[in-house]
Amino acid sequence: MKLDTVIIGGGLAGLTAGISLQKAGKKTAIISAGQNALHFFSGSFESMQEAPERAIDLFEEAGIRLHYREGARLMPMGTFRPAVLSLEDVSIFPEGQLPRRALVINFTGYHDFFSSFIAEGLEKAGASCRIRFIRIDEMEHLRLSPSEMRSVHIARVMDKVWEKVVQEVRILLKDEDTVILPQVFGLKDASVPGKIRANIPAKVVFVGTLPPSVPGVRTQQLLRRRYELLGGTYLMGDEVLSATLDGDRVTGLTTRNLQGHPITADHFILATGGYFSKGLESNPEHVWEPLFGLDVEALEDRNDWYERDFAKDQPYLRFGVKTDPELRALKDGKPLRNLYVAGSILGATREDMGIGGGLALRSALAVAETIAKD
Ligand SMILES: Cc1cc2nc3c(=O)[nH]c(=O)nc-3n(C[C@H](O)[C@H](O)[C@H](O)COP(=O)(O)OP(=O)(O)OC[C@H]3O[C@@H](n4cnc5c(N)ncnc54)[C@H](O)[C@@H]3O)c2cc1C
Repeated sequence: MKLDTVIIGGGLAGLTAGISLQKAGKKTAIISAGQNALHFFSGSFESMQEAPERAIDLFEEAGIRLHYREGARLMPMGTFRPAVLSLEDVSIFPEGQLPRRALVINFTGYHDFFSSFIAEGLEKAGASCRIRFIRIDEMEHLRLSPSEMRSVHIARVMDKVWEKVVQEVRILLKDEDTVILPQVFGLKDASVPGKIRANIPAKVVFVGTLPPSVPGVRTQQLLRRRYELLGGTYLMGDEVLSATLDGDRVTGLTTRNLQGHPITADHFILATGGYFSKGLESNPEHVWEPLFGLDVEALEDRNDWYERDFAKDQPYLRFGVKTDPELRALKDGKPLRNLYVAGSILGATREDMGIGGGLALRSALAVAETIAKD
């Protein structure tokens, strides 16, 4: 199979680049070792102060509706965090419009949703709160084993019985202006959160649970489906082990499952994520990029790597692979002509592109545009 581009890593950056290139008529494959940061996604994209129409359209075409609204979202521990570009089911509170009376709902026996922290946080913000637990018969089999009582398992049930949840909430609702529910709706049917909202006479806010993130898993699945519908090849569970280079060009990749059959292409995109996904690795002395041995921007003195105050921005999260202006990877100070870098492996080396989800989207769109012109 002759490929135009091989993308290493199938998270937000890899999928965004893959979809864009398939749309541009290129033949691509994504090789992805395993879980990615979308499985932990809050539902809001960091550093997206300007609405990127191309990203919004790309998501819409995949069946994922985003909304662009400045304000704050309620976090799983009851704090508020600024948000701008988010999935449609994430509620944003515009400035000065926090809940006044809230009903926090959880399911009996579900420990991955912190209703009391949420109520405490809302009370600190001036709201009065009630917490109530509901029991749904169809969930009872999950309660037999604590490992089954997880967000995604609950969500599989909820897509079918959301109307019962609405009924229970309506019985419990008194004069509250806001109902808080765990974010366990719409795993397969993205319309469910909207239907719940339409049937409860108060503002309905879905708040994150412990991972996996239901909207994150849904986003990953829909982006992957869109990529494959466009003709892309997604090699899930394979891992790139090594690469061959000829001068300043990458010529092929060897993967765990296809040893002896190097994968070749005209272009390669490295979208292997940060430390979390092993795109970057570290020991007490160094931070390095394990596949190509690329140049990494990092502070020399280990004492400067982190802030003692855990809550502050941590400098080591800013480290990342160095690139030229077109996001070509640098090795020994020189660009590799056909290896581009996208996503959180860049750390904060490209201030123009932001961090987090914003960085993943912008860098992936940028490299896809450059490759598509080639
Ligand atoms: C826990 C967590 C939560 C986050 N939450 C948010 C959030 O709510 N909002 C936000 O804006 N940002 C969030 N971020 C930041 C996040 O990094 C970006 O938003 C974005 O999802 C990163 O996408 P990515 O594609 O660059 O990397 P990743 O999502 O990390 O994907 C990299 C992929 O590459 C694969 N891979 C690695 N090495 C290889 C190899 N050798 N061969 C094949 N595959 C390989 C990995 O298995 C993984 O699937 C979060 C980050 C983390 C770690």
